[in-house]
Amino acid sequence: MNGTVYLVGAGPGAPDLLTVRAARLLELADVVFHDALVHPGTLAIAARAQKIAVGKRCGRHSTAQRFINKRLVDAAAKYATVVRLKGGDPMLFGRAQEEIAALEAAGVRYEIVPGVTAALAASAEVGVSLTQRGFARSVTFATPRVGAGGRPSDWATSVAAADTGAIYMGAGQTPEIAEALHAAGLAGSTPVAVVESASLPHARSIFTTLAELPQLAHESLDGPAVLLIGAQFAVAASAAREREDAQSALTLLKAVAGDN
Ligand code: SAH
Repeated sequence: MNGTVYLVGAGPGAPDLLTVRAARLLELADVVFHDALVHPGTLAIAARAQKIAVGKRCGRHSTAQRFINKRLVDAAAKYATVVRLKGGDPMLFGRAQEEIAALEAAGVRYEIVPGVTAALAASAEVGVSLTQRGFARSVTFATPRVGAGGRPSDWATSVAAADTGAIYMGAGQTPEIAEALHAAGLAGSTPVAVVESASLPHARSIFTTLAELPQLAHESLDGPAVLLIGAQFAVAASAAREREDAQSALTLLKAVAGDN
């Protein structure tokens, strides 16, 4: 058997944010190797496939990645349609290049199917565009996370230099992120939106500033979260405050009405 391996983006979470191409491939797949974060509803589309979790949580070890690479190559010898299903887009913080290199070295045919990346779903969640005519013309996708044996990069300088920053895999280290961005020149008043589980029914957005960001270390985030940084998120913060005020006014009115 000379199978093809498809590196497929599963999107940010909601199963209906999958591309049509991805859904067709899932329906056809003989075997699906998927990340831990992929929604069960998305996996259900691969009705006839054997589904294998290749546990992708942050901080995975590189031997584990080598093992995944080998399993993809082996599967292509046995099956016609092999899907490697990754959260969001496979080409952004998805270690796709290592899998591509392994497939190329083994002479296995492969194709890449893009997906909606988390930052775009987070932007949709808060209703604020990452770019804005007149004042936000550049976006940096960054992560402070360094893999085992990796070179530290100056991610904070790139975020500070762009109009908008989207930080992946950083919600667990808000104090370090705030410190690095301060050192790179961002003001403490810079608005930050922390968007958790974007695209899912239990999505949550927290609006804060760079100076207050370290306090979020005590906030329990259960799902994956992206940090969006930029002046335009102040608008979403005040809209959210207004909604909260309206809500508490309503609660107060109801309580008063209840008293009478
Ligand atoms: N390839 C993926 C990113 C993988 S790294 C993509 O393109 O989206 C994993 C990180 O993605 C998480 O730590 C978190 O920062 C982010 N993430 C994934 N799904 C998310 C979601 N639904 N909401 C917010 N952030 C998410």
